[in-house]
Amino acid sequence: MKRVFAVLGDPIEHSLSPLMHNAAFKALGMDCTYHAFQVNKENLKDAIKGANALGFGGLNLTVPLKEEALKIVEPDSLAAAIGAVNTVDFKEGIRGYNTDGIGAEKALIDAGVKIGGAKVVIIGAGGAARGICFQLARCGADVTIANRTPEKAIQLADDAAVIGNVKGCGLEQLDDLIASADILINCTTLGMYPHVEDSIVTANQIHEDLVVFDIVYNPLKTKLLMEAEKAGAKTVSGVMMLVYQGAEAFRIWTGVEPPVEIMKKAVIGALIT
Ligand code: NAP
Repeated sequence: MKRVFAVLGDPIEHSLSPLMHNAAFKALGMDCTYHAFQVNKENLKDAIKGANALGFGGLNLTVPLKEEALKIVEPDSLAAAIGAVNTVDFKEGIRGYNTDGIGAEKALIDAGVKIGGAKVVIIGAGGAARGICFQLARCGADVTIANRTPEKAIQLADDAAVIGNVKGCGLEQLDDLIASADILINCTTLGMYPHVEDSIVTANQIHEDLVVFDIVYNPLKTKLLMEAEKAGAKTVSGVMMLVYQGAEAFRIWTGVEPPVEIMKKAVIGALIT
């Protein structure tokens, strides 16, 4: 019988996940289908329990549901520490995972970037920053979170301190932090379509030995990545994080090696049209 998968969120109409996962299922000849459903926080519990009762293969969760899901599913230790769930699996009860951090780690590794021992500056302290901070600290990076609201950066640093070396601060120290960093990661919403002219950092703040990773993936080449290129820095696009976080979810649900290149082609094809 066909197995059904879905992404839940609100809004959800621009999600690239159905395209990406359906391309993967088709390439592997798997009798599975993936859909997008608009679900708000109030209906999340009914939606997850309903999907379980209907025999769904698994779910992805996106904004604004990732934190709310913690109250509904049984999270693994990483998702519980991060405080957010983006993948739900129904094989043994209703289990929750967070694959955002591993998606970011794999995007960096894919680009040939060394994480262990690197000085990483993450701008932003929202849901995505939390996942990435925990994962990179686990990999042995020295992480500083700089956020517009400093209290959120300091809270995240406190939460992640059990894992590794993480500090939190406001944006006023950004110039000095970037000057001595190896990797800069934008985890704010700045530069995201339709505000494509926005960038949290400009070329004059970037040095040529820096790796600049923008997790915003629409547009494919954000203003920040253009500024980084201008400064001669290496750039990493958020699209590979999108692909790898999806690939990890695929692996959790199916136990099958995900066809990453097919998933990447599907997403990039949609973003350049
Ligand atoms: P979020 O929880 O809403 O966090 C947004 C962050 O951006 C907060 O730290 C916020 O600071 C900061 N921010 C917003 N406007 C700002 C401004 N004008 N100046 C400075 N900082 C500002 O969002 P999220 O879920 O973490 O997602 C962040 C971005 O990552 C989104 O664009 C999302 O599409 C992208 N994303 C990409 C992937 C991928 O696979 N590539 C995965 C997840 C998310 P305050 O705390 O001060 O409000």
